[in-house]
Amino acid sequence: MTKLKEKWNQVLALLEPELTEISFSTWFKPIKVKSIDEKLNIIHLTIDNNMAVDLIKDRYKSILENTIKIVYGNDFGFTIEYFEEDELLINNVGDKEPEFKDELYLNPRYNFKNFVVGNNNKFAHAAAVAVAEAPSEAYNPLFLYGGSGLGKTHLMHAIGHHILKTKSNLKVLYVSSEMFVNEMVSALRKNDLRNENNMGEFRRKYREIDVLLIDDIQFLENKASIQEEFFNTFNTLYTLNKQIIISSDRPPNKLVNMDVRLRSRFQWNLVADITPPDYETRVAILINRAELDNIEIDEDMNDVINLIAEKIQENVRELEGALTRIISFSKLMGEKIDIPFARKILKDILSAADFNVTPENIKKKVCKHFNIKIADIESAKRARQFAFPRQIAMYLCREMTDLSLPKIGECFGGRDHSTVLHAYEKISSDIKTNDSVKEIVATLESEISGK
Ligand code: ADP
Ligand code: MG
Repeated sequence: MTKLKEKWNQVLALLEPELTEISFSTWFKPIKVKSIDEKLNIIHLTIDNNMAVDLIKDRYKSILENTIKIVYGNDFGFTIEYFEEDELLINNVGDKEPEFKDELYLNPRYNFKNFVVGNNNKFAHAAAVAVAEAPSEAYNPLFLYGGSGLGKTHLMHAIGHHILKTKSNLKVLYVSSEMFVNEMVSALRKNDLRNENNMGEFRRKYREIDVLLIDDIQFLENKASIQEEFFNTFNTLYTLNKQIIISSDRPPNKLVNMDVRLRSRFQWNLVADITPPDYETRVAILINRAELDNIEIDEDMNDVINLIAEKIQENVRELEGALTRIISFSKLMGEKIDIPFARKILKDILSAADFNVTPENIKKKVCKHFNIKIADIESAKRARQFAFPRQIAMYLCREMTDLSLPKIGECFGGRDHSTVLHAYEKISSDIKTNDSVKEIVATLESEISGK
């Protein structure tokens, strides 16, 4: 039995040279042999990734079947199913130095090799790998969303690098939505001034590419004419079967100030989210970061990494920033990195970041207080356990920030300004009549402002 299981390594050894490095390590390396049915000659495999199950059954079925036959015998077959494992996966795919093309704005550090895979992003990562491997075939469009600093841009650049490296005939264009807007505005302006057809040029540029990566699409909200132009670009590319990859800080249905036709197109195929990393993933990201900087991870460094991972939970950019800051301060001050030193540096970072009065922080602290999820407070759920915290959070946003009612509504799943006003009036009057509400609001106000 164990021998039969050991043979699995031979299967892998045969498969490896047949596949690209990244396919091999994403789809095949994580496969586990669950059991072998020696009567029916079936190998039961599991993998902790739903998408891999589909892909293997679909695209890689015959290569895997043939290899199993070579190793186990001609009458062997396999089954594969999804099996959740909470063990963390660090992707060690060996992307070589990517070809760096200036005009593409691709950061060479943002490749698949440097991307740490955890439960928070494994679906988005798998989708990105699938698209990078088979543009226009796997998922089109691919829509990635998640909060700031969680790795969306990193994944998009990684897709770009991979396609450029493996399919050099394809034209890949990465743009931030801001760049798209600026280019279009400047083309329009030139059109007016010189009566030249710069819009024609702009359109041609965007419609002649094979892969369009457009980052932070939420930036197009409230810009109707630009949405119109992007709608046309999208349609042209899609009709020509070109790959489109979009990122956003919110899911399509929360982009309330976006043309409904665009919103629906964003959901035509695969929508994948990235959430904040769990503790183990945060540690893995920090270790990865330290290794990239050739920092030796001794016991003190290890403790410091654990401390940072404990303190900074919501944002990978800040997580890495904290480590980088500790490292550069230690160099600057000639002090050794250990827990007391790290605490000193972190204190500044944490107090500054934590007491920023933003809707995000308000939502975070309110949710923590009531022990509910941020997604619930942003959702349309009407149960009192969600509706009451939501009203409190809206009230605090109105009281503690300069944001307008519609802006506050946007922060709560795109609600109407009248809903915000209603919440504000309701809590204001509750405070006057109900001491427990008054106390909750006072506690939260001091937690949020740090005073
Ligand atoms: P977003 O575009 O979602 O705001 P970025 O892609 O810019 O976030 O990521 C912010 C920083 O965090 C980048 O330096 C990126 O390399 C890093 N990062 C985010 N997620 C990961 C990850 N899973 N593994 C390694 N680095 C990551
Ligand atoms: Mg980004």
